Amino acid sequence: MKISNDILTLVPYVPGKPIDETKREFNLTEVVKLASNENALGPSPKVLEAIQAAALEIHRYPDPACYDVISALSQLSGHSRASIVCGNGSNELIDLFIRVFAQPGDRVLVSENSFVAYPICAQAAHVQVEWIPSKSDLSFDVEAALKKIASATQNKIRLLFVANPNNPTGQYVSAADFQRILEAAQAHPDLLVVADEAYVEFVRAQDYPDGFALIKKYKNLVVIRTMAKAYGLAGLRFGYAVADPEIIQYIHRVRNPFNVNNIVQAAVIAGLEDLDYMRQSQECVWQGLDYFYKELSRLGLTYIPSQANFVLFDTKRNAEKVSYELLRRGVILRPLKGYNLPQFLRMSVGQAHENQVAIRALEEVLKLIPEQGA
Ligand SMILES: *Cc1c(COP(=O)(O)O)cnc(C)c1O
Repeated sequence: MKISNDILTLVPYVPGKPIDETKREFNLTEVVKLASNENALGPSPKVLEAIQAAALEIHRYPDPACYDVISALSQLSGHSRASIVCGNGSNELIDLFIRVFAQPGDRVLVSENSFVAYPICAQAAHVQVEWIPSKSDLSFDVEAALKKIASATQNKIRLLFVANPNNPTGQYVSAADFQRILEAAQAHPDLLVVADEAYVEFVRAQDYPDGFALIKKYKNLVVIRTMAKAYGLAGLRFGYAVADPEIIQYIHRVRNPFNVNNIVQAAVIAGLEDLDYMRQSQECVWQGLDYFYKELSRLGLTYIPSQANFVLFDTKRNAEKVSYELLRRGVILRPLKGYNLPQFLRMSVGQAHENQVAIRALEEVLKLIPEQGA
C-alpha cells in the first residue's frame, strides 16, 4: 500500500459521544445528550408517516433526479430547478464542492474556530487550507478575510467557506460584511464563496444576510443548507446547495446518482411542509438559549451569544475535566479539543427538562473543579 501523507496525517472527525456508549461506560440509565446540535423535539409525526408510506418502495432505486424534492426546494428558495443539487447531508456537498472545484495543490480559505468538515474534506482531497485568523472574541475577521481574498487568484484559492451562523461559536457574519466579501471575491473568477447556512432557521439577528437573494446578484455564491438541525432529520442525512446552474451542473456530474435514498426523499417533502414543527423547533431553541444565558450568567460563566441551536461557553477550567465529570452525571456536552479552545464547551439546546438537568450537573461540577488562572 502506498498511502499519501495527507491521508496518513488526517485527523478524523470526532462526533458527539453516543448515548448508549455513555450509558454503558458510566453505568447510567438516564443520559441527556446536548452534544451534536440535534433537534430536541424528536422527529416530526408527519415525517414519520411519510417514511412508513415510502418504506413500501424500498425495493426500487430512488429517483436520481430528486424531482419532487427539488420542486419543493425550488419553491422555498425562489431559484430554478437547475440551480439546486441535493446531497447525503450537507457534509457530502462540502466534500463534493472541494473535489469538483479544487485540485491537489489548490487551496480553500477557512476561518479559524469554524466547522471542521472543511479542513477534513480538503485534506482528503489533497487540497490545502489557508486559514483566516479569527478575532480575539473568536468571531470571523472580515478584514483578515478580505486580505486573503485579494491574493486568491495568485494563491490558487478556489473556495471560501463561511459557516453562517458558525459552528461551534454561534456567531454570524452580518449582511454588510458578507456583501464586502462577495464584492471582493468578484475580482477572482476562479473563486467560489460558499455560505454554509446549517442554522439559518434559528437566526434572530436582524442584519443577517439573505443568501438566496444574493445568489441572483453574485454568480460565484453557493448557499448550502441542511435538514439535520431545525427540520430534525440528522439521522436521515439530507442537505442541498443552491447556486448558478453552471456551478450546480458540475456537482451533478460527480455526485453518486442515488445519493439521496427514497425514504429520505419522502421525509424531506413531508418535513418541508410541516410548518408547525418548524415553529416549535424555533420556539424550543429560542427559549432554551435564553434560559442558558440566564443560568450561565448566574454561574459566573461567560458565553458567546448564539444565532444557532447551541451556545459556546467558557468553563474557566480544563473543559476536558468538566466534560468528564458531566458524563459521569449523565450529561454529554461537546469539548472542543481540535479547536484550541481548551476551556470551552459547546452545549446544544435540549428540551426544557434536559436543559435543567444539564445546568444542575454543571453547577455541581463547577464546585468540584477549581478555576484555572483567574
Ligand atoms: C451540523 C452542520 C452541518 C450539517 O451537516 P449534515 O451533513 O447536513 O448533517 C453543516 N454545516 C455546519 C456548520 C454544521 O454545524
